[in-house]
Amino acid sequence: MTPSPDLGVVTEPARTLEVLARADVLVVGSGPGGLAAALAAARAGVSVLLLERNGCFGGNITQVGVEGFAWYRHEDTVDSEGIGIEFEERAKAAGAAKPEPQSDSHALDAEGFKNVADDMVAEAGIEPLLHALVVAPIVEDDAIIGVIVESKSGRHAVLGTIVIDATGDADIAHRAGTSTHKTPLEQMQAASVMFHMTGVDKTAFIQGVKDDPQTYLSWAGADEWAVETTGKEDDMFSPWLSKPFDRAKKAGRIPADLKTLGGTWGAISDQGDLTYLNLVHMPEIDGTDVRSLTAGEIEGRRQALLAIDALRRYTPGCENAKLRNYGMTIGIRDTRKLVGRYNLTAHDVREQGRFDDSIGIFPEFIDGYGILILPTTGRYFQVPYRSMVPNDGVDNLLVTGRSIGGDQTSHAAVRNMMCCTVAGQGAGVAAALAVKTGRTIADVDIVAVQAELKRQEVRLT
Ligand SMILES: Cc1cc2nc3c(=O)[nH]c(=O)nc-3n(C[C@H](O)[C@H](O)[C@H](O)COP(=O)(O)OP(=O)(O)OC[C@H]3O[C@@H](n4cnc5c(N)ncnc54)[C@H](O)[C@@H]3O)c2cc1C
Repeated sequence: MTPSPDLGVVTEPARTLEVLARADVLVVGSGPGGLAAALAAARAGVSVLLLERNGCFGGNITQVGVEGFAWYRHEDTVDSEGIGIEFEERAKAAGAAKPEPQSDSHALDAEGFKNVADDMVAEAGIEPLLHALVVAPIVEDDAIIGVIVESKSGRHAVLGTIVIDATGDADIAHRAGTSTHKTPLEQMQAASVMFHMTGVDKTAFIQGVKDDPQTYLSWAGADEWAVETTGKEDDMFSPWLSKPFDRAKKAGRIPADLKTLGGTWGAISDQGDLTYLNLVHMPEIDGTDVRSLTAGEIEGRRQALLAIDALRRYTPGCENAKLRNYGMTIGIRDTRKLVGRYNLTAHDVREQGRFDDSIGIFPEFIDGYGILILPTTGRYFQVPYRSMVPNDGVDNLLVTGRSIGGDQTSHAAVRNMMCCTVAGQGAGVAAALAVKTGRTIADVDIVAVQAELKRQEVRLT
């Protein structure tokens, strides 16, 4: 946010802070990246604190309602292995997942996954700290040694040997003076206010989908979704919804010039919950600007009501449906990315990049910045450890999840939740081994990291 120069400045007095907690590894943020990092570090045998600003773990899964965890998976997909697969299996076993309609995968239940994450955190012996907003790094002699936390208990220090920034926004790295970059606002991926509906007649809804099946080619006409595919995706089924909004525009119920409605539905339950409604796509929202976030939340909710009105009128099975809930927060796809020791490129994710410091693999799945490539052919790339290591700034800090180093197209691959778990697990293991061997993040033994990842059942090659 650009502060108003007219309003002047104030000087915040320096103060002494009590230490609230201490651990070998601090993980900030508990999305797919941070949760995987905390679990991996704890399983590698060090003490771990997981700090999260909201009241549940899971990041976008539980807080935004992003349920499509592996919607890219098809018969010939060579998939990642490790904690991400465990998330899906644990959710299925707990009844917190439903079949995902376009793939060979399960959609995670945004509510049920909160309990799954609680259980996994407890089983691993991680110390959890919810409602803890990390506001600043603590740096000594060019290395991070902890973070400052604001919570209802006040302002405190939390100390750790290694800090993993899994905020999705590279908040800690940025504030520690490490180089990051952001896509120009007009090119940023859209932000979405996600919602779930209830009271849908499942039989009628599914019949409507079968009577008028949509494909990935259907995305082509939609402004915010228009994509370039390889061609092989075009005739495949997609749970796409745009016709109800076109009809509502013709009927004058939605302004004809509103270009942000249209997208996908995620899953439908036997009880009539139609969830992960990814239908409001707002450009030019900056997730690192508090005024932009505020405007996006309010405008997104306004547009969601327009979408629900159209679905009730023009979508079979939705006649008596209503809003069940919004995500806890607006969904942000695109903010800061680390300038890493290696920065992934479009070529790496499109042409099966291979790296000596691989910490895991992710299928050739690219979704964003106008590209959609589904991993239907068994191709995949490796994720290099160096993409999480800051190129400058401070030592003993790793950045994981969607903000690892790379260009726009590579971000459209690594931002996917399964890939965030791959990066997270690699970061967690590297942090644990740095602690155990007394090395810094910059010179951790990558061969030992890879050996521990293999022990944790991660596929590296
Ligand atoms: C609307 C939408 C739809 C999407 N659809 C899909 C999809 O279908 N499939 C898919 O794979 N991906 C999808 N994505 C992308 C995916 O959800 C994200 O890229 C992914 O969740 C990023 O994981 P992460 O762990 O890096 O960060 P996040 O999931 O964003 O988690 C970050 C966590 O850090 C916490 N945090 C942030 N700052 C602080 C702080 N200062 N102090 C303490 N805690 C903090 C947050 O509360 C949050 O819990 C979608 C994204 C959006 C927004």
